[in-house]
Amino acid sequence: MTNCYRATPLSRDDISKAVHTIRKHAGFENELYFPILHFVEIILPLVIPDFQFEVVPVIELGNKHGETIPTENLIRIREDVYCRASEGEGRDRLTIAHEVGHLFFHENESIALCRLAPDQKLKPYEDPEWQANAFGGELLAPSYLISGMSVDEVSRKCGVSTCAAQVQLKAACQKKQRYSA
Ligand SMILES: [Zn+2]
Repeated sequence: MTNCYRATPLSRDDISKAVHTIRKHAGFENELYFPILHFVEIILPLVIPDFQFEVVPVIELGNKHGETIPTENLIRIREDVYCRASEGEGRDRLTIAHEVGHLFFHENESIALCRLAPDQKLKPYEDPEWQANAFGGELLAPSYLISGMSVDEVSRKCGVSTCAAQVQLKAACQKKQRYSA
């Protein structure tokens, strides 16, 4: 038996709908480049009055790039990750967007500790880490905006790594196929 956390199931479509709403309310519905630091430092505190964003020294967070405690509305980001994100580094911008995903989706009641038998596996859409990754990718490079673009264009215009751009383009492509089927 292994212990793991199981989240309320969320499909990629559920996640992209949520992102679309968030981007719209934040005033960035049609912007390719999402200003993630402006979002966590300026916008989130307006929407969630007790929201806290902490930049934490490297020694304190160790090998974790960031962490989120949804019940306390708290996101903590390692200092070096924060610095690189402010310089526009895609991977670090995505780390912050990933933590925002945990903040929105993973309040206590949506997460349950579960035990899996060795032959059992958590489904991707009920894995909180998969959900936060899908959210982060979608927030920075939304499938509704990038369809038809090249990997390089997505990476440059959305400020994400080439790898994240590929994942998002694939998701945009699958979404298109689903809706045209
Ligand atoms: Zn995570």
